[in-house]
Amino acid sequence: MLPEVGVEGQLKMLNSKVLLIGAGGLGAPTALYLAAAGIGTMGIIDDDIVEESNLQRQVIHTTDRVGMPKTQSARVQIESLNPDVNVVEYRERLTAENIMDVIRDYDVIVDGVDNFPTRYLLNDATVRLKIPVVSASILAFDGQISTFAPFEGPCYRCLYPTPPPPEMAPSCGAAGVLGVMAGLMGMLQANEVIKLVTGIGDPLIGRLLLYESLGTHFTELKVRRDPACPMCGPDAPEIAEEDMGKFPDYDLFCAGRPGAFA
Ligand SMILES: [Zn+2]
Repeated sequence: MLPEVGVEGQLKMLNSKVLLIGAGGLGAPTALYLAAAGIGTMGIIDDDIVEESNLQRQVIHTTDRVGMPKTQSARVQIESLNPDVNVVEYRERLTAENIMDVIRDYDVIVDGVDNFPTRYLLNDATVRLKIPVVSASILAFDGQISTFAPFEGPCYRCLYPTPPPPEMAPSCGAAGVLGVMAGLMGMLQANEVIKLVTGIGDPLIGRLLLYESLGTHFTELKVRRDPACPMCGPDAPEIAEEDMGKFPDYDLFCAGRPGAFA
């Protein structure tokens, strides 16, 4: 019905492939709305199983599916909502070894990662493959979101060149998060994906949007590419084809539980 989207935009969504990193707090609402919107192929990578304590924010899962792999639980819900979505499950952790094979064929990636090693790994791999990433994070009553379009706007490393020390990097499970934060930031992610896929509107490229829920404040910061960025800066080392899929051991970056998702 929307002239900006129309049949053409709907067909673009049907032909698009979107990968969700994590079927947790952010991935859950994002997956539901993207399925309802008619995204044709949705990959979901997560190695966790559904736990009762997840249900406060991971609304794609249900009480009767506690104990089921999250990717399977998400697939059940997506297919009952829109059976035309081709759901591709990856019941594994995203690692330096598998990341290139997992992400290679996707048009857009939705980052719902809650740990820093995986987030840096994802950034470095997507910059190499030039795949845009809609990245959000939530903690307690705060959320932030930006869209990282390689070489068009800044990448994650342009903003945060090095990971924070472990004590500064709590995960949602450990630190707590208001459940609706996942919904709010997940919806903003779904909105970004639809814009990127259909080519309408202005994505959050070069902009970091902060949301603080206790006062209901949105703040937008301009973010720029860092000329000294080790991944996307002009002096970033050229990576040979055979080294494209080689990454340092990101698990050693900091504490936390690599492979777990918000
Ligand atoms: Zn960069």
